[in-house]
Amino acid sequence: MKIAVLPGDGIGTEIVAEAIKVLNALDLKFETEFALAGGVAYAAHGHPLPQTTLKLAKEADAVLFGAVGDWRYDQLDRPLRPEQAILGLRKHLGLFANLRPAICFEQLADASSLKPELISGLDILIIRDATGDVYFGQPRGRRTAVDGPFPGTEEGFDTMRYSRPEVERIAHVAFQSAQQRAKRVTSVDKANVLETSQFWRDIMTEVGKQYPDVELDHMYIDNAAMQLVKAPKKFDVIVTGNLFGDILSDEAAMLTGSIGMLPSASLSASHRGLYEPSHGSAPDIAGKGIANPLATILSAAMMLRFSLKQTTAANRIESAVRDVLASGLRTADIYSEGTRRVGTSEMGDAVVAAIARSARTD
Ligand code: NAD
Repeated sequence: MKIAVLPGDGIGTEIVAEAIKVLNALDLKFETEFALAGGVAYAAHGHPLPQTTLKLAKEADAVLFGAVGDWRYDQLDRPLRPEQAILGLRKHLGLFANLRPAICFEQLADASSLKPELISGLDILIIRDATGDVYFGQPRGRRTAVDGPFPGTEEGFDTMRYSRPEVERIAHVAFQSAQQRAKRVTSVDKANVLETSQFWRDIMTEVGKQYPDVELDHMYIDNAAMQLVKAPKKFDVIVTGNLFGDILSDEAAMLTGSIGMLPSASLSASHRGLYEPSHGSAPDIAGKGIANPLATILSAAMMLRFSLKQTTAANRIESAVRDVLASGLRTADIYSEGTRRVGTSEMGDAVVAAIARSARTD
């Protein structure tokens, strides 16, 4: 197994180092190779995603990614900005499915803005198509309107579109993921208004027939946004398009209290994937040794589960994280009275120690 490791910018190097520490604590055979991406790659090679980095990512079984983004490069032309590294990787590796679990560890229920009883034990998975929809549909641009309420005036326009294979492949990811969980899929759309959504809904229903063990229901995006804050635990797997998924996944992230806890996976058709925390490079705390490494450590667990097929090892990481939280250790972002504040590497060490303890009791 070969893992391409791209720590990126800001806190990226600090949090990825902890994830590697945790992976090394498991009895697994894998090879890691590091490469630059983002602002650091621009500084060294004049491009945020150098060819050598892309080649490594394409050849590896999985990519472990930190975060990119550095205010020093915000004035560059868009194709040279650090964030282009992640967009380029998604495109070149064909990473169409973005998986974001929103898990609320019992011990952190107080960190949510919702009442603890609504959120404690939450475990939902949001699956978002990441390469289609109105974000990529052509044509798009500005022109003079020929119709609408103000013909002859300037207008901006985009195209919302989905092809049958695009919807089918994300549907299969959703149903197969649900089979590993509570076997429920909620497909979110706006079929009462949008043709694209009605098409999406019809295909979801069609593909769903191939998975009789999974219960499928459909929900309009406005209702889904409401239900996510009203009764989030009712959901198991949510599948939706790029635009609605962008909004819902951030809403779900906030339910759990800290962005520093949330992993993510981006998968291709062959289940090769890129694994990264849901947060950015956090330049405000970079270099201080206080960033929460748990989102990245949990992303490494997702990598073991989805791309490297090491389910037991993935489970061991996740239960070690639970143990560490239960023991009261917290980084600054999830600290509350009565718990013990620790830094980035101390948190990584604690997860390693919990894994070692579990090995002794096995
Ligand atoms: P951010 O997620 O980096 O930070 C938002 C807030 O959350 C900050 O206060 C930060 O300190 C805190 N935070 C984030 N991760 C944390 C962690 N692990 N532990 C503790 N606190 C944490 O978002 P931003 O400030 O909007 O963006 C900063 C940079 O990151 C920008 O350049 C942006 O473009 C980039 N970005 C990159 C990605 C990516 O690499 N996939 C995603 C989002 C943003």
